[in-house]
Amino acid sequence: KPQVLSDLEIAQSSTMLPIQDIAQRAGIPEDALELYGKYKAKIDTTKLAHKKAQAKVVLVTAINPTPAGEGKSTVTVGLADALRQLEQSVIVALREPSLGPVMGIKGGATGGGYAQVLPMEDINLHFTGDLHAITSANNALAAFIDNHIHRGNELNIDPRRILWKRVLDMNDRSLRHVIIGLGGPAQGVPREDGFDITVASEIMAIFCLASDYVDLKKRLSKIVIGYTYDRQPVTVKDLAVEGALTLLLKDAFKPNLVQTIEGTPAIIHGGPFANIAHGCNSIQATNTARKLADIVVTEAGFGADLGAEKFMDIKAVQGGFEPSAVVIVATARALKMHGGVDKKELKASNPQAIAAGIDNLQKHVETIRQFGVEPVIALNRFITDTQDELDVIVGWCEDNGVKMALTNVWEQGGKGGIELAKNVLEVLHTAQNFTPLYQMNDTIENKVTTIVQKVYGGKDVVFTDVAKKQLVEIKKNGWDKLAICMAKTQYSLTDQPTLLGRPENFTITIREVIPKLGAHFLVCLTGDVMTMPGLPKEPAALRMDIDEHGNAVGLF
Ligand code: ADP
Repeated sequence: KPQVLSDLEIAQSSTMLPIQDIAQRAGIPEDALELYGKYKAKIDTTKLAHKKAQAKVVLVTAINPTPAGEGKSTVTVGLADALRQLEQSVIVALREPSLGPVMGIKGGATGGGYAQVLPMEDINLHFTGDLHAITSANNALAAFIDNHIHRGNELNIDPRRILWKRVLDMNDRSLRHVIIGLGGPAQGVPREDGFDITVASEIMAIFCLASDYVDLKKRLSKIVIGYTYDRQPVTVKDLAVEGALTLLLKDAFKPNLVQTIEGTPAIIHGGPFANIAHGCNSIQATNTARKLADIVVTEAGFGADLGAEKFMDIKAVQGGFEPSAVVIVATARALKMHGGVDKKELKASNPQAIAAGIDNLQKHVETIRQFGVEPVIALNRFITDTQDELDVIVGWCEDNGVKMALTNVWEQGGKGGIELAKNVLEVLHTAQNFTPLYQMNDTIENKVTTIVQKVYGGKDVVFTDVAKKQLVEIKKNGWDKLAICMAKTQYSLTDQPTLLGRPENFTITIREVIPKLGAHFLVCLTGDVMTMPGLPKEPAALRMDIDEHGNAVGLF
């Protein structure tokens, strides 16, 4: 049996080019490059003059995944490498990993096998510090709020109605509910508070959606931090700290340049999760890549019900571009799970279960078509997949007229993605008819119902009493023309993580509606999805180490 190298071992045995060479390959002038060591750099976008008006954006999404992920980042990287092998001008644009999943259950976010971005240890750990800068800006705001209350509370902020939470880039369930300000009058005003994970911070969302520093500051100033005793909203502008917060993001806001194993330029910037936030890398990164290359390959988190929907209805709309092609990553193992197979039995061949689970894939194909874009399925091949299993999926695609490519980029790098790349190029050469699913000036109830019915395939929506009260407040303040950012489990099309496949006739319950004015959306919380996740019983951290030379060990 051949030895299978880990992602880290493959990454460490690869040779990287100096980042200046990658910049040159991407057409980034030297004076726009700010070096962070030999293999990472930030791009000063103000120094990029030229613009390619016709650059095409390819979005990579997936079916509802297993806990390990279906290889979306892997396929995104491999597809970009394959396009470059076909002599296309291409840049891959990814999200930055969060330490929560890195240390927890999900793993890194730098791809896998021979389709990775490098240096993977750095990118998966602290990278260029962007997440720390976002954490600092978020928590600085929290400190300004509590200081304001402590210093006499001129704005009349009701400490029981503060929306702004502190954040940490880690899964730490014990911080979900905390009491701060204990210890007497000199220690601040006691109140109930809580922590979210950094990627769920509105500052992360703003960071990813802002077009430039001016827009960044304007959006930060609009954040609603809570309400006064007489229920008036209080914003960052009222606290007059938008300048300081923007300044804290000064360097982080510049997109990061790295490379794939095959030397394809990669821009990695911003990293909201797609279950609890909008799930797309920064508009700045995507638009920078659009200035430099003819094709930008990017991804959005989890399945097409989460990341892709938000990519279409939030990111593309705010970023002013259209996705020209969409790749849906599917795996035999996830389809088996949708067909009823237990997580522990996924390695055994089971074509019948795949046939039973394939309606999950079908739903996502229908969803992407509703946005007016023709999808291409990337069947991400695992060595454990049997021919019988693959035949079921290939046969289904043929029978249903869906473009499909067996993809082997994990094992072969770009070479394993040539067929996929050719399929994608075909779609790029055909006019698509992209349209977002809802209009901003529709009612909140209608916008949410549209997503539930058209994207999840559900019947209707109910709002809890808490959510109904929040809706009244939101409408009173005139915030109902914003986009909708659903927070929902990634495992199911419903709000129940255990309902797999393609459930029908279900109802989605909106537990809370939280205004995020700077991000221009309303977060709708469903099910028991958590904005601060917890660590699993055996966190990935248990396998990690460092050797005597300072090299990472066991990082997947
Ligand atoms: P996603 O982006 O969908 O979460 P990733 O691309 O991060 O998924 O992949 C998740 C994990 O699965 C990674 O550790 C990666 O190495 C592994 N993986 C992806 N594709 C394959 C494959 N075809 N064979 C084996 N392992 C794979």
